[in-house]
Amino acid sequence: MREIFNLYLEKKSLLKVTMDLNERGHKTNQFISAAGKAFGGIKFKKTSIQTMLKNPIYIGKVHHDGVLYPGLHEPIISEEIFQRVQDILKDNRRERLERKNVKFLGLLNHILRCKACDSIMFHTYSHKNKRKYRYYVCMNAQKRGYKECPTRSVSAEEMENAVIESLKSAGKDDQRLKESLIVNSPIWESLFPQERRHALRLMLKTAYYDGETGKLKLNLNESGLQVLYRMQEGLPENG
Ligand SMILES: [Zn+2]
Repeated sequence: MREIFNLYLEKKSLLKVTMDLNERGHKTNQFISAAGKAFGGIKFKKTSIQTMLKNPIYIGKVHHDGVLYPGLHEPIISEEIFQRVQDILKDNRRERLERKNVKFLGLLNHILRCKACDSIMFHTYSHKNKRKYRYYVCMNAQKRGYKECPTRSVSAEEMENAVIESLKSAGKDDQRLKESLIVNSPIWESLFPQERRHALRLMLKTAYYDGETGKLKLNLNESGLQVLYRMQEGLPENG
C-alpha cells in the first residue's frame, strides 16, 4: 500500500502507476465472499488505484456523513504523504477537465490521409435526427470537389476501429512490437480520448486510406513505439 502511494508521488500519473504494478505482476488483494466466491487477485485498474489513493483509511481515519473521524486502527501512510497525493490528484483532475473542454478532434487527426490525393483527412461531424455523426473528410476533396477523390469521407467511428484493429494485428508476429503496441494492453481500455490520441500518435506516423479498395496502410512510428515499450517495461523513457 505504502509502495503505491510512493509510486504515485514519483510518477504523478495513475496510468503509469497502474502499468508499473501490472508489469511487475502485482495483483489486487484477494478475498473470499461468504458464499465462497473469490474476488480480487486480479490486475490493477486505473480507477481502483484512484479509489485507494483517496481512501483516508490509510491515514487511520474513517469517513462518516462527509466528516473525517479518527479510526481505531494504526495509520500506514503519513498525513503528509497522503496530502501530497491528494494535491497531485486534484491538479491532474483539473488538467483533465480543461482538456475535455477543448473540442474533441478525433483520434486520427494528423494521422489519417487519403491515399489517392495524398492529402490529410480532417475530423468533422454533422447532426442528423438528434444524433451526432462523426466523419473524416479528405481535405483535397473538400477543396477541389468530390469528383477529384474516390475516398471523399468516411465514418470516423468505423475508421478509428479499423485502424485500432489493424494495429492490433500488426504485432502478431513480433513479440517486442506486440508489447509496444498499447492497443494490445488492458490499459488501452482505461485511457481517456485525449490519452488515446496521444498514444496513437506514438504508435503511428500515418495511416493511408484508399477509398477505392477500402485498404488501410499503416506507417508505424518507430521512435514513439520505443517510448511506449520502455514505459510498459518500466524503463526510463529515454536513454
Ligand atoms: Zn482524397
